Amino acid sequence: NGGLADPKNLRVKLVLLGDSGVGKSCIVLRFVRGQFDPTSKVTVGASFLSQTIALQDSTTVKFEIWDTAGQERYAALAPLYYRGAAVAVVVYDITSPESFAKAQYWVKELQKHGSPDIVMALVGNKADLHEMREVPVQDGIDYAEKNGMFFIETSAKTADNINQLFEEIAKRLPRPPS
Ligand code: GDP
Ligand code: MG
Repeated sequence: NGGLADPKNLRVKLVLLGDSGVGKSCIVLRFVRGQFDPTSKVTVGASFLSQTIALQDSTTVKFEIWDTAGQERYAALAPLYYRGAAVAVVVYDITSPESFAKAQYWVKELQKHGSPDIVMALVGNKADLHEMREVPVQDGIDYAEKNGMFFIETSAKTADNINQLFEEIAKRLPRPPS
């Protein structure tokens, strides 16, 4: 269509950010393939997956998902990774306060250097490990609300709230004029 944005069929770049080990790759794998592999090793090499979802209003959203291989650890490379991203999913592990602090660091980075109209989601993953919880759900809710983000707790292991995460993001995308 000559490069014009089609308002009925959006295509968006989505990046995941967060500490290594919080479950970013597992969230992607669960969403795209419906699988969870507990033996999966740390992501080697950047991976790229896409998944299309249909919304109630008969529009579709194709997520082009960039899963980092740890480039985000190098502060200088991170902006290359999230450049042009319409969506940033910032993930922490509910059993790790350190990962929650790191998530807040990423939110600040995105506020400073990301696209001004970027849709940001804050995700507390590993919700199945509730007996080891160290980050209260209310802390996630409060932080997200203060920063105008969508918040959800997920489990890539049980699949809890994984589809809901992407559906809620899709609903929040700015629409090109039709
Ligand atoms: P990444 O470094 O953020 O991409 O993290 P990974 O997706 O590689 O996951 C790191 C580890 O956490 C792996 O051992 C996964 O099996 C485990 N993991 C990921 N998501 C969950 C989850 O929702 N629940 C539990 N219990 N473990 C998870
Ligand atoms: Mg990974």
